[in-house]
Amino acid sequence: MTTQSPRKIAIVGAGQAGLLLGVALLDQGHQVTMLTNRTAEEVWGGKVLSSQFMFDPKLQIERDWKMNQWEAACPKTEGISFTVPNPDGSGTKAIHWHAKLHAYGQSLDQRVKMPGWMDEFVRRGGKLSIVNVGIPELEELSAAYDLVLLAGGKGEIVNLFGRNEERSPVKQPMRQLALTYVTGMKRHDYMECVNFNLIPGVGEYFVFPALTTAGPYGSGKTQACDIMVFEGVPGGPMDCWADVKTPEQHMAVSLDILKKFLPWEYERAKDCKMTDDNGTLIGRIAPTVRNAVLTLPSGRKIMGLGDAILVNDPITGQGSNNATASAKHYFDSITARGAAAFDEAWMNKTFDDLYNNYAAKVIAWTNSLLFPPPEHIINLLGACQAVPAMASRVANGFNDPRDYAEFWFDPAACEKAINEAAMKAAA
Ligand SMILES: Cc1cc2nc3c(=O)[nH]c(=O)nc-3n(C[C@H](O)[C@H](O)[C@H](O)COP(=O)(O)OP(=O)(O)OC[C@H]3O[C@@H](n4cnc5c(N)ncnc54)[C@H](O)[C@@H]3O)c2cc1C
Repeated sequence: MTTQSPRKIAIVGAGQAGLLLGVALLDQGHQVTMLTNRTAEEVWGGKVLSSQFMFDPKLQIERDWKMNQWEAACPKTEGISFTVPNPDGSGTKAIHWHAKLHAYGQSLDQRVKMPGWMDEFVRRGGKLSIVNVGIPELEELSAAYDLVLLAGGKGEIVNLFGRNEERSPVKQPMRQLALTYVTGMKRHDYMECVNFNLIPGVGEYFVFPALTTAGPYGSGKTQACDIMVFEGVPGGPMDCWADVKTPEQHMAVSLDILKKFLPWEYERAKDCKMTDDNGTLIGRIAPTVRNAVLTLPSGRKIMGLGDAILVNDPITGQGSNNATASAKHYFDSITARGAAAFDEAWMNKTFDDLYNNYAAKVIAWTNSLLFPPPEHIINLLGACQAVPAMASRVANGFNDPRDYAEFWFDPAACEKAINEAAMKAAA
């Protein structure tokens, strides 16, 4: 398809947000240049970057833009399961339920996806350069292009945007994160789920199927795996990765945590093997919303996209989903702009609309899970055991977390939602 007003657009950062938007713009007839600091080979052969679970509405955006190349090969996860262990240390479950998602979600290792998407971007006519972009490069780009988008994820450069304090109420990392990519996980006897375990005061553990690399770059070989995600409360017993130096130690610590706090997960995982020596990650994230516009020394303006200006703790698995929602929103805003200039007012309005209509609610819900759950949330999660319609609503909120604003934060609204769900079931 071609557009009436082809524009010259530069995107820095070949990640979930940048590549997706880049190909969609190419398909509209725009000239798109992508600059990124790692080759496809380096990404494929490097360390895992994320657990990148995506829910159906955002997978649909990838499908609409013909970017779902691995959909058939990637394991399909049909539901959400939620478990709280008994606090008495007996190794039994105090709360457990599982509910079906309206449509399946998937996790495709970004080490597979981004190299493939980089090829696809070039195949559809994009220009790809490997450059570690700094201010001099941004200056050059902003002089030559109608619009420059910086989608550098967690790269140092994104700090140039400056933190928006008002929109960033959580000031420091609230979890010690660790990922372990494994094969050999035993399946349970119900549908494949994102298995979410909440251990009050200790942290969270979630685990789900994914598709990862299975050979060197160029082989294109992939394999099914499971991704274990640990979210330890800082200073607590799950914040225990400081001395881990080798993949073997990482695996051993992963299993130790499960054995101690979540024996049912240990039983499934105890014979697992790491997918590869790069299948681990340890880190911390301070949830941050940054200013959308950066003024360069020349006075020219560039705009942020994805994690560069909107980064959350992965506790709710929304980062890649947000990056995808952002790509779609920017695409619509760029398309609607026609031939008019991408000025500072347009940049701010584009991001503010995304923030106000979508992201603020995702952030509020995600941040709420970083603090000890209030009584009404414990009650809600318990009620989901007895009221499947409520469990279904909570599970499907992951598809579009704006629904949580209707009941999550207010005890009375929460009780009303549970009663309504129970009555619906009884009718
Ligand atoms: C432990 C963990 C688990 C996660 N789990 C999930 C999950 O289950 N579900 C979910 O939806 N999200 C998850 N996320 C978040 C998700 O991975 C990110 O939100 C998403 O990848 C952001 O996409 P992006 O395009 O903004 O940035 P990225 O995908 O990070 O891409 C940024 C790109 O910019 C490049 N770059 C950086 N600096 C420069 C520079 N100076 N010059 C040129 N290029 C540069 C990088 O190399 C990279 O290619 C998780 C994150 C972590 C850390």
